[in-house]
Amino acid sequence: MSFIVAANWKLNKGPKEAESFFQEFLSGNEALRSEFETLFFVPAVDLVTANAFLEDTPVGWGPQNIYFEDQGAFTGENSPAVMKDIGATHALVGHSERRHIFKEADGDTFLKMKAAIRNDLIPVLCVGETIEERKVGHTFDVLKRQLSGALKEDVTTSLFHVAYEPVWAIGTGEVASPGQVAEAHDFIYSWMAEHCPQAKGSKILYGGSVKPDNAGELSAVDHVGGFLVGGASLKVESFIDILKACR
Ligand code: PEP
Repeated sequence: MSFIVAANWKLNKGPKEAESFFQEFLSGNEALRSEFETLFFVPAVDLVTANAFLEDTPVGWGPQNIYFEDQGAFTGENSPAVMKDIGATHALVGHSERRHIFKEADGDTFLKMKAAIRNDLIPVLCVGETIEERKVGHTFDVLKRQLSGALKEDVTTSLFHVAYEPVWAIGTGEVASPGQVAEAHDFIYSWMAEHCPQAKGSKILYGGSVKPDNAGELSAVDHVGGFLVGGASLKVESFIDILKACR
């Protein structure tokens, strides 16, 4: 199964920029692109544009956040049912910016995983420790709490992926070392083997300052099945260079 390279544009790009990005992205490098599973998590305002460009391609796409109800009086939220209806294939759940800035709790991530699966979207669950938690040796406790909080009951019988994103490496330029990535991915892999043995197609992605110059080394680490890329996914050239580095 192919290595996943997923883009998280965060709160960047409007529909015009999204359009020129997808035009350029799809206009070359077909052989290279076909070696990978590429995904785009775009701002809500770009979802329709993503569908217009990606619906007849193998490229997946979806929102950076969903609500756990499909409809109702929930001002400002993204309905997972509407996401499916407009063609989304995936949904990001529990990104550290959702957890830390918007105070999303483990209970919320579980409900969002359920909502994604109920609507036939493949969720990518983000987990990861802060620098304070790492410094006091709590990395594995945090990962365990976040995994067991979100991956339970019938969630684990459907396809999902997990992204290990140490908070201290996101958007900081400070990338985790291959040893740190190996240790965390090994922990997540073992936890999943014990608690979700049926999740055979699930991949564990690494995210945190992935760039073309560190992607090759990190992609070779055991149990790294893909990347979630923020800053370096905003330009077609650097996104493509990450694919080249992982070949
Ligand atoms: C992210 O947004 O999930 C991320 C990993 O960002 P960056 O690559 O910029 O660190």
